[in-house]
Amino acid sequence: RRGIRRISTGVKSLDELLGGGIETKAITELVGEFGSGKTQLCHQLSVMVQLPEDKGGLKAKALYVDTENTFRPERIMQMAKYRGLDPQEALKNILYARAYNSDHQMMIIEESKKIIEKENIGLIVIDSLVAHFRSEYPGRENLAERQQKLNHHIAQLLRIADIYNVAVVVTNQVVAQPDVFFGNPLKPAGGNVIAHGATYRVWLRKGKENVRIAKIFDSPYHPEREVTFRITEEGVVD
Ligand code: ADP
Ligand code: MG
Repeated sequence: RRGIRRISTGVKSLDELLGGGIETKAITELVGEFGSGKTQLCHQLSVMVQLPEDKGGLKAKALYVDTENTFRPERIMQMAKYRGLDPQEALKNILYARAYNSDHQMMIIEESKKIIEKENIGLIVIDSLVAHFRSEYPGRENLAERQQKLNHHIAQLLRIADIYNVAVVVTNQVVAQPDVFFGNPLKPAGGNVIAHGATYRVWLRKGKENVRIAKIFDSPYHPEREVTFRITEEGVVD
């Protein structure tokens, strides 16, 4: 992929793990249990993208698609202040959309092309990518239709990332893997469609107190190394 740009996560160890930050023209998937830090990282990246290049940003805006009503403007302002940005300005530079169901979510992404053509968008966040799809298409009988729609959605996200040279960050939940006796009893939701669609997959889990642990999985190019970071008042930090 030519001409890719990178956005710093604001965490040195995470940036190193990712080879310098999250990439444009790619989908980065954050997967983990409740409270593992997915939403916090989405907030932080929406701030980091606004920084100038020499501070790890793209001097650009973010488009934030919120499906679970977990976007917190006050948290953005806190993080922005810590990164030396004007909190009010930083908030204005995040174009917010609440997606009420999976069709609405897909429509927002379809329509986002017009916004990206007018505004200087460097990052698209979808938190969560799969939640609506999972609740609207439950059970085996709906699996084929759900996966087909998700596949279409992810293909469109990749196309937009590539054409407009923006980074796409999506969150995903973990589900039980009851038939597993050895190894991890949890797996990412979304099956093969997300496994193949995501360019980079980052697994987050909780450590002690505010410590979180991240590793890249499913990648032949990255070592299966783990790094730790913390979630504090200032945001996501080393
Ligand atoms: P996920 O989206 O993976 O479910 P979150 O990104 O919402 O998880 O992470 C929630 C965690 O972030 C909580 O454990 C909470 O302690 C921490 N957190 C959220 N806001 C703050 C804050 N202002 N100061 C310190 N920690 C915070
Ligand atoms: Mg969340």
